[in-house]
Formats: sequence, C-alpha cells, structure tokens
Amino acid sequence: MKIAEIFKNKGKTVFSFEVFPPKKTSPIESVYSKLEEICTYGPDFVSVTYGAGGTGSHSRTCEIASKVKNNFGVEAVAHLTCVNSTKQDIDENLKDLRAHGIENILALRGDYTEGVEPKNEFLYASDLCTYIKSKGDFDIGGACYPEVHTEAKDEVEDVLNLKKKVDSGAEHLISQLFFDNSVFYRFIERTKIAGINVPIEAGIMPVTNKSQIERMVLMCGASLPAKFSKIMQKYENNPDALRDAGIAYAVEQIVDLIANGADGIHLYTMNNPYVAKKISEAVKNLL
Ligand code: FAD
Repeated sequence: MKIAEIFKNKGKTVFSFEVFPPKKTSPIESVYSKLEEICTYGPDFVSVTYGAGGTGSHSRTCEIASKVKNNFGVEAVAHLTCVNSTKQDIDENLKDLRAHGIENILALRGDYTEGVEPKNEFLYASDLCTYIKSKGDFDIGGACYPEVHTEAKDEVEDVLNLKKKVDSGAEHLISQLFFDNSVFYRFIERTKIAGINVPIEAGIMPVTNKSQIERMVLMCGASLPAKFSKIMQKYENNPDALRDAGIAYAVEQIVDLIANGADGIHLYTMNNPYVAKKISEAVKNLL
C-alpha cells in the first residue's frame, strides 16, 4: 500500500519506525530476528535507511525493505539518496525496488562524502522526486528539518526549498530528530505559511546511551533542552537508568505531539526491539 493512502485511511496520527541495514562486514541475516520482532509492535510502516553511517548501499536497503514487507507483513519504505548517483544508477535502483514489490521511496539528496566527487546529476532531493515521479508509480516521501538543514542560510530559505520538494512530488515528509517539541510546532507553522499541505511526521529518537547523544548532536545539530541535558547528565554512568529515562522522555514527547494533532510519529528504533516495544506499549492506546 502507498504511504499516502495510509495517511488518508487512518485519519489520525500515523505511527512508523525507522530501521537500518547491518554494516557491510556483517551478514544481512544478522538483523532479521530483531527486525521481525520490531515489526510485531504495530507500526503502520517501516522505513529502511540507505547507506547512512557506512552501512552499505542500495541492495541491502532493498533486501531489508523486501523482508519487512514480504516476510514480516508490514508496509515498507526504502530510503534512496542521489548525491553519488547517476540517472542510470537510479534507474537500476527503481527497477530493483519494483522487482521486490517496494512501492514507497523516501527520496533524499544524501550527505557529501569526503573524497568522493558528487555525480552532479541530481543537485537536490527535489530533483530526485521529479525524476522518480516521471519514471513510474512510486509513492514519494521527503525529509525535513525542524531546526533548519545545516547547509541552509536560514529557516525561510529552508522552508521555501522544502516547498519546492513537495511541488516536485513529495507526498509526505519525515522530520529530523528533535528533543524540544516547541521547535517542531514552530516549524509546522512555517510550513503552513509556505503553503505546504502534506502530512509531516515528527522524528523521535529515544536516547539510550551517552555516545549516541554525542553522535546525534554532532551529526544533525539538534538542540538539547535543559530538562533533557539534566536527565542525561544524571544517568550518564548508569546504562539501565539512562535507557529508561531516554524511553520516558521520548514517550512524553510523543504524548504531547499526539495531543497536539501531529500527522505522524516516526520512531528511530536504532534496530532496538526493547525500545520499540516499550514505546509502542506506552502509546498504543493514544493512536
Ligand atoms: P535536500 O532536500 O536536497 O536539501 C539539502 C539542502 O539543500 C538544504 O539546505 C536545502 O535547504 C537546500 N535545497 C534544497 N532544494 C534546493 C533548491 N532547489 N535550491 C537551493 N537549495 C536547495 N542520509 C542518508 O545517507 N541515508 C538515509 O537513509 C537518510 N535518511 C534520512 C531520513 C530522514 C527522515 C532525514 C531527516 C534525513 C536522512 N538522511 C539520510 C540525511 C540526509 O541525506 C541529509 O540530511 C542531507 O544533507 C540532505 O538530504 P535532503 O534529502 O534533505 O536534501
């Protein structure tokens, strides 16, 4: 089923998960049992990242997305980046996705990799949206940034670029992670002013260990509210307490987002079935 249909049919907050393929050095089967369990916790769909954090490339994304959809019985979205791809590469990726019955794509530009010359056939995710749209009947999603994309001059420029992505075919959006809901609500106001009327899911990352926080903040520049930093500092040397506090914080964010009418919650599960289970159980009666 197309993700746009899920938003239309559900009529209330959509609940979805993100998972990632294993590192190239690990066999792909090494994540199957975790992902199978994660899929039992009731997501409306599961998205599978593409080559993020050195985890490999398209074939693994496609294979995991196919497993999610065809074996674990949950609708799947394959992430697809274009910065290092030619049109011919993308044609092959689309062919592969079609062959595996995947009909939903999260169209991304991707980050520039040091030492790798970008192919320059797609400059922005909106170029990829236009291209995918011209090629066939895929549902297309896009990424968005409540705290502004790191390369954008300011929030006005960023939201106007986001509008171009929606006009190029992105039918729904998933946000970068954030820890302060008021940042998300201000972003939603900006999208409304810019005339963006597609569903926007809030990206929620339950923080379960100290190095994860440091890495995330470095990578995406998410601001940390004082309340969040206090909790993390207090429990940084107690892994079980930090994990439970991270889950509780994420649940509190999600409850507030649902109460404020968020179109969707996209949970960054980090392939962790325990976290997916605890959060799903805590919010299932609210969805
Ligand atoms: P774009 O939408 O192209 O935006 C990139 C920058 O260009 C922004 O600053 C934007 O304001 C600007 N811009 C956009 N269009 C125009 C235009 N027409 N003219 C001028 N400027 C423009 N990375 C991965 O490698 N693999 C993944 O699986 C992955 N999944 C992600 C999932 C989510 C939900 C999110 C939020 C991010 C994900 N990323 C992933 C990271 C993403 O690839 C990076 O953030 C990347 O830097 C930008 O990708 P984008 O698709 O948002 O780019």
